[in-house]
Amino acid sequence: AESVLITLQSHTEVLHFFEGNPPADSPAHKVPVLSIAPQCLASLSATLSSSSAGPVGLRQVLRRVAAFCTQMLGFEHVYDTTFARHISLLEHTREFWERKRGRGGKLPMLASACPGWVCYAEKTHSEMLPFISRTKSPQQIMGTLVKSWLASAWGKQPDQIYHATVMPCYDKKLEASRQDFYDDMYSTRDVDCVITTGELELLMREKGWDLSVPVPGEDNLDNPENIPEVLLHPGTSSGSYLHSLMSAVRLASPEPLELSVKTVRTSDYEEYTLSKQSTGEAVFKGAKCYGFRNLQNVVRKVGKEAGIQVGKGAAGRMVGIRVRAKKSGVDVDEKGYDYVEVMACPGGCVNGGGQLRPIGKATERTEDEEGYVRNWEENGVSMSGGGVAAPKWGNREWTKEVEKAYWDELPMPPGSPGMSSDEVDRVA
Ligand code: SF4
Repeated sequence: AESVLITLQSHTEVLHFFEGNPPADSPAHKVPVLSIAPQCLASLSATLSSSSAGPVGLRQVLRRVAAFCTQMLGFEHVYDTTFARHISLLEHTREFWERKRGRGGKLPMLASACPGWVCYAEKTHSEMLPFISRTKSPQQIMGTLVKSWLASAWGKQPDQIYHATVMPCYDKKLEASRQDFYDDMYSTRDVDCVITTGELELLMREKGWDLSVPVPGEDNLDNPENIPEVLLHPGTSSGSYLHSLMSAVRLASPEPLELSVKTVRTSDYEEYTLSKQSTGEAVFKGAKCYGFRNLQNVVRKVGKEAGIQVGKGAAGRMVGIRVRAKKSGVDVDEKGYDYVEVMACPGGCVNGGGQLRPIGKATERTEDEEGYVRNWEENGVSMSGGGVAAPKWGNREWTKEVEKAYWDELPMPPGSPGMSSDEVDRVA
């Protein structure tokens, strides 16, 4: 069933929709809306900037994409999903406090915005499900906003809107096709079709659109008419979930808190602790955990702290995980986490499986990278996106380029190389 949905959710489905959509004065006309994730804009921006086109910022890219989608495809509205992400962060913070006060859920709370991780947990670590946040991802919040809130503002019903999104990974197609996000009353999904950054680029190539060419008004960034706008925010380039919670904890604290950051393995696995300045007592401990290997270690640590069996119960499997955790230097006896921002892709969403590959760089997988793919296949994940993106490219430097594009004009995320602890503290 999944493979049928994946086939349907492609750039050809978008073209097929426009071929069949009646004119605007027809009662059967659907209003076409496109939402694009800022990580996809960063991927396009990094690719343009590394070509002869020279540096092209995120906001310029957004305007060029919007021009292509409206002029060449027929979309009537184009948004970036940053606003939906802000709602997701607010709801996420509310849920965290609910759990913290012992109402409705366990701690540590684990992020729910990555379908690669959620799908993996559902298939192989059902004991982790009570820890996973109930908050919708930005894509699905955008789906609700478009199909319910905006539709109502436009005098339309949800099934009179066609909502496509551009996302950094294939797993977002799986997320959009979940039964949870299907509106039975109107027989429509919150997101009708998900295409990747690569598929958007393919659409542009097929239509002869050159993204390196500026569009009118793209430099006039101060003009409020030039919406949609990419909102500023500190944190990680995979949504800043952990950092928004740390801000909330600081705001709620009656006394000043100090932040310390510890790299557990690499920049893909870092621990953030907020402690009282007066006594040094830790009041919040969170982690950023990206990539399949780190994810396994976190599952193990959370399982141990909660006193539950990890995995499907195979003793050999548990031992294997324990050995890997020890080798990686994870101390499972440390203070427990309050929150973990879990993302399946090494490097996070800027490095999703649907992002553009670096120009002229090798695309062969190394043996290590093949391991990621096997992990996903052996765990029953039939899709090719989540968790295998970085390995497919085998190029960490490129991830940094995309991340740099993401943070273009924005404060650098805490924990970035070269950032002092004072700066980390200030931005957090
Ligand atoms: Fe998709 Fe990877 Fe981001 Fe997960 S971490 S949402 S699989 S791009």
